[in-house]
Amino acid sequence: MRRARIPQPISGGLLLSYKCSAACRHCMYACSPQWDGDWLTKEDLETVLSLLARRIQPSPWGNQTISLNHGLHFTGGEPFLNFELLLEAVRMAEEMGIPSTFVETNCSWCGSDERTRERLQTLKEAGLKGILISVNPFYAEYVPFERTERCIRISQEVFGVNVVVYQAAYYHRFRQMDLTGRMPLEEYIKRTQGERLAEQVELFLMGRAARKLREFYRRYPAQRLFHEPCQPPFLRNWHNHFDNYGNLMPGYCGGISLGDWRDLDALEDEGIDLDEHPVLGFLIAEDIEGLLGFASDFGYQESEEGYVSKCDLCLDIRSHLVSRGNFGELRPREFYAQLE
Ligand code: SF4
Ligand code: SF4
Repeated sequence: MRRARIPQPISGGLLLSYKCSAACRHCMYACSPQWDGDWLTKEDLETVLSLLARRIQPSPWGNQTISLNHGLHFTGGEPFLNFELLLEAVRMAEEMGIPSTFVETNCSWCGSDERTRERLQTLKEAGLKGILISVNPFYAEYVPFERTERCIRISQEVFGVNVVVYQAAYYHRFRQMDLTGRMPLEEYIKRTQGERLAEQVELFLMGRAARKLREFYRRYPAQRLFHEPCQPPFLRNWHNHFDNYGNLMPGYCGGISLGDWRDLDALEDEGIDLDEHPVLGFLIAEDIEGLLGFASDFGYQESEEGYVSKCDLCLDIRSHLVSRGNFGELRPREFYAQLE
């Protein structure tokens, strides 16, 4: 029997739900308002945090500081859509001694100074160490910029240096543009006289980005992508994601499950049964050519228009397999329905 052991995670993100107030074109996890909430239950929250408490490592600058690839972050979807659960998660994580916790947000909930300050202060008092605030032209299609500005300003008052603005260059550019309200991507491109998004916005061409941003990128035949490594590496101990359905997701690879995080001890000690999970077998071996051959037996045909990235090819194959069979490693299935 072929098996592969999971490296013990030292950092990661906890998806409280895939439900979001936005449906960004670049979303790796295909989140949107259309998802059923299916918020992480309190029981599962306790289980996953107690499993992670023994594993999560602090930021190199100490457990009261944050760093993208250390500690634990609360994410989604938009975690502030269920503030009560977010607060509970922060409280529990603090009680269990999980270091370097932060929350990721798109700021859509920051309608007033008062509400923003009250929520951020409440989270800080419950033990949250910091916040990551998302800014780029894809978020700007959904979130009025004054809410983003408010969130950054008040977060810096509440969390001090533990505020990451990702990507800060866009925050400054939007301020220079005197942006107010939302801005469609096409309008942004017009106002920046055709900024080449492919060169400027840092993103992985995976998940919904592979579907919705194709027009901005060159496409290649599958064969050109066979020998590209997964970046970051497919199996790694940092920045993996744990979703509200129990899936342990490798890195940012939406729609792929290494197994149920409730079985984390066994996944680390005994490993994944690759005969039972053939798609994982090909992905772990970085054999996308083999995966293509496997999918051909299920009727998959290579796209004539080509692929913008290895992840695009991987996603197209997986979407086809999901339509043809029940692969336990291709979860949640709803992800594949929410890509468009
Ligand atoms: S990128 Fe973030 S804000 Fe946008 S849809 Fe995905 S989870 Fe929501
Ligand atoms: S090719 Fe597939 S497995 Fe590798 S990083 Fe991209 S989505 Fe993940």
